[in-house]
Amino acid sequence: MAWDFETDPEFQTELDWMNEFVRDEVEPLDFVLDDPYDKSDERAMEILRPLQAQVKARGLWACHLGPELGGPGYGQVKLALMNQILGRSGFAPTVFGCQAPDSGNAEILAHFGTQPQKDRFLQPLLDGEISSCYSMTEPHGGADPTLFTTNAVKDGDEWVLNGEKWFSSNARYASFFIVMAVTNPDISAYEGMSMFIVPAETPGVNIIRNVGIGTESEEDASHAYMRYENVRLTDDNLLGEPGSAFGIAQVRLGGGRIHHAMRTIAQLEKAFDMMCERALSRSTRNGPLASLGVVQEQIADSWIEIEQFKLLVMRAAWKIDKYNDYRRVRHDIAAVKVAMPKVYHDVVLRAMHLHGALGVSNEMPFTRMLIGAEVMALADGPTEVHKTTVARQVLRDYKPIDRIGESLLVFAF
Ligand SMILES: Cc1cc2nc3c(=O)[nH]c(=O)nc-3n(C[C@H](O)[C@H](O)[C@H](O)COP(=O)(O)OP(=O)(O)OC[C@H]3O[C@@H](n4cnc5c(N)ncnc54)[C@H](O)[C@@H]3O)c2cc1C
Repeated sequence: MAWDFETDPEFQTELDWMNEFVRDEVEPLDFVLDDPYDKSDERAMEILRPLQAQVKARGLWACHLGPELGGPGYGQVKLALMNQILGRSGFAPTVFGCQAPDSGNAEILAHFGTQPQKDRFLQPLLDGEISSCYSMTEPHGGADPTLFTTNAVKDGDEWVLNGEKWFSSNARYASFFIVMAVTNPDISAYEGMSMFIVPAETPGVNIIRNVGIGTESEEDASHAYMRYENVRLTDDNLLGEPGSAFGIAQVRLGGGRIHHAMRTIAQLEKAFDMMCERALSRSTRNGPLASLGVVQEQIADSWIEIEQFKLLVMRAAWKIDKYNDYRRVRHDIAAVKVAMPKVYHDVVLRAMHLHGALGVSNEMPFTRMLIGAEVMALADGPTEVHKTTVARQVLRDYKPIDRIGESLLVFAF
């Protein structure tokens, strides 16, 4: 019987190395460099490239991909343990070649791309030379692809793409966009939409404006409102078969959601560490904060909630490895997606509060983390949609009863 919470010693050595490397070499970069996706920032690249070389030499580069897709293929459980370290720093995923949204884009290019597409887009993405953008959400359509209106119409040998998308993250730094568009409006969206790989320099690819999160300045804003205006493409730009966009999006978003959750654990632990340090360091007339029952309750609640969330994420990761089929773990991933913003919000709010005025200041990370919690409640679909998924899937295991007397629950009383 296999039921084990231990990490094998060999991999633990790698995790220990990562822990130290991220703490000493990578986390400080968050304070001095700008945007990990801006590959034209030569100053940043000069610092990042040698760090990336160390990660590659150690065999820890692009660990979200299996060997057939160009990575070492550690699987999701090991990836979860790695991301629980990498999520501490904005730059760490870039140093390890597994940053969203490039990681998900690489995954679908590897799965569905042709060889020329892999050579042109996937390889430089995997090598960390370029950034990419996943452009799906529409201003009026949000999380629901059945409402999308961005379309691509055949004109001779070409496709003509028109429409608007928003919150297309990192568009300003992207060398290419993966765009979901209606190609057959006469059939269901599940079969009538296609994915296109659109090089950034294609005429008609327009950024209307870059939108910031929270108090981000316009200069730092990187979630683009896009207008695709008579963008001319060919069949070579199609990712997968025409009509297959919905299935491709499911593969991409399933992985993306669980990876966000793994990195969120790192943020939770960071906030928790700061909470505990503060509780031991700050004294009132009645002694250290840590000696007060009300504070101990906050620490205990936070620890329990983090551990519960970690177990849920690890179990979902284990099931992904076991079944190798995202459809079989849909409700596990949806459950993780639902749990994530609440635990993130609750723990960070307590940590912020225990830090007093310092906690709400821009010298601490808590306000950014709080916005991060709400971002996790929206990005890749709002909480309510995922709750519906969990409930629908769970209810599949139950049957209605004809007569009240047949209910086991009634017999139980
Ligand atoms: C920081 C950030 C980065 C993002 N990056 C990307 C990206 O790179 N590419 C991309 O394509 N998209 C991206 N998104 C968009 C994200 O996927 C959407 O925000 C999300 O799908 C929700 O769509 P919406 O914002 O239009 O909200 P809406 O659809 O307007 O939903 C608003 C609210 O309405 C309610 N609601 C909506 N639908 C339902 C429903 N079916 N049942 C019950 N309640 C419902 C919920 O309370 C929800 O929070 C990003 C978003 C953020 C915040």
